[in-house]
Amino acid sequence: MSILRVEGLSKNFRGLAAISDVSFTIEPQSITSIIGPNGAGKSTLFNLITGYLPPTAGAIHFKDRRITGMATNRIAELGVARAFQIAKPFRDLTVFENVRIGALFGKAGPRDVEATTRRGLELAAMTDLADRPASALTVGQLRHLEVARAIATRADLLLADEPCAGLNPTETAAMIDVLRQIRASGITVVLVEHDMPSVMEVSDRLLVLDAGSLIADGPPSVVSKDPRVIAAYLGTPDV
Ligand code: ADP
Ligand code: MG
Repeated sequence: MSILRVEGLSKNFRGLAAISDVSFTIEPQSITSIIGPNGAGKSTLFNLITGYLPPTAGAIHFKDRRITGMATNRIAELGVARAFQIAKPFRDLTVFENVRIGALFGKAGPRDVEATTRRGLELAAMTDLADRPASALTVGQLRHLEVARAIATRADLLLADEPCAGLNPTETAAMIDVLRQIRASGITVVLVEHDMPSVMEVSDRLLVLDAGSLIADGPPSVVSKDPRVIAAYLGTPDV
């Protein structure tokens, strides 16, 4: 059974087809990366899944519930979380307190806020920094904080928007490890990421968008050899 099902999804901005007739399903406990050139529609797709934007056409089902057109907070309550590229923490609060805010919101149902906070910190490899004020974190640590906050909402599906952008190779490797840990914990991850070596390494599956259309869908080893993908995005056949 799939955790997310997108069917015939389209989004037009005036004349521009930002997403056009896109269909795919996401299997639970997997990491799927959405790749494609700038302007391909990746962020728009996230905005549609989280309910931030209404689609022009099509349907989105999360765990067999139709979420199309639902308010963002209702979709979050069902267990969909998004980690933003630009983390905007409460700078005067500690890492723990920031992640705790995630644990206070998010998925509906009974919860143990302290335990949920600790689990978010642990999965995002932030336990050692729990008492540090957010204002003292590096860019890389802020990304981990944002992922921890998102997971602490008890999400079943994490949408991560370029979590490795601007990170150095060591920080990138640490973030990739975190994404793997998150998958191992049972959470499904959909990733938008430009860093191709990381994408190839961590993804169970790639979805390739080009000018709003889905041009490839499959395992990284297959998709990276697809001539349309190479032409649209990868630019070189040996990536
Ligand atoms: P990506 O994240 O793949 O770089 P986006 O989803 O941000 O692409 O953008 C896809 C296209 O839709 C682009 O041409 C962009 O300019 C346009 N677009 C995105 N959001 C809006 C919006 N809110 N209003 C008008 N056009 C938008
Ligand atoms: Mg984008």
